[in-house]
Amino acid sequence: MEYNSLDSYLKRTFGGKVYKLALSMGATCPNRDGTKGWGGCSFCSAGGSGDFAENTLSVGEQIELAKKRVDSKFPKKNDVPRMYIAYFQSFTSTYISGSLTLHSLRERLMAAALNKCVVAVSVGTRPDCLEPEVMQILTEVNQIKPVWVELGLQTVNEKTAAVFGRGYELGTFTDAYCRLKKAGLYVVVHVILGLPGESEDDMLETVRFLSGLTPVLDGIKFQLLHVLRGTRLACDYEKGLFETMDFEEYCSVLGKCLKLIPKETVVHRITGDGPKRILIAPLWSADKKKVLNSLKKYLLSI
Ligand code: SF4
Repeated sequence: MEYNSLDSYLKRTFGGKVYKLALSMGATCPNRDGTKGWGGCSFCSAGGSGDFAENTLSVGEQIELAKKRVDSKFPKKNDVPRMYIAYFQSFTSTYISGSLTLHSLRERLMAAALNKCVVAVSVGTRPDCLEPEVMQILTEVNQIKPVWVELGLQTVNEKTAAVFGRGYELGTFTDAYCRLKKAGLYVVVHVILGLPGESEDDMLETVRFLSGLTPVLDGIKFQLLHVLRGTRLACDYEKGLFETMDFEEYCSVLGKCLKLIPKETVVHRITGDGPKRILIAPLWSADKKKVLNSLKKYLLSI
């Protein structure tokens, strides 16, 4: 089967390969500090889904450092300048609290958008952290470079969401989605496959819901549930309260999900990679390259 992959979308849109730079906005998360909940979503590690980003440097410094990291991983073969997406990944990047003010949010997003090598700015956040002032800033930055807003919905099943402690209801997501699309922003939604208590039907229901959104969803990221050391999920896993998916199960569900999504929706990710040093399960997911190749091979075969 074919799907609209991020690589091909980036090539079509920007005319070549684009690399992601993992950055930190210096934000925390309302689901960790008691505003919405304590301790965060059960699967979230202390790095707040951004275990590869730096925390204390300016955006410009982070960009330079992240570029070096990318260049050492993918050595340059010529002098053609590389294109990058500035990805504010860790915690909730539009949560105005502590050292992150509206002013510093604007300043940091602008610093990324005005950087010559950056072709798009991606912001990972929650739908309940998109107040009108934040929307105004995102819209302003979107005039300079495309802004992608990434929302960690994970599931439309309210029961599952309550179990892992998402801290907002589906209505909050749909309201934010409508406002983001009305403002002309590009929206990517994260979905986790294999959440405790979810059947295959539950997972497909989430994808069916997202596939029916109007206007059509711009991007979707599929992530295999990882159990990471130090999370609440790890305690439940060690108590034997749930099992993680095996590779065959993941392939099968992912294939069914991909068949449901509209052709216009770009598949930004077909699985994720939890930081290896704290990965408890499933261990088969640790070899990212092998997993991705096997997944792609499976998808081609169906
Ligand atoms: S909303 Fe995101 S950053 Fe916050 S606890 Fe959940 S996964 Fe972690």
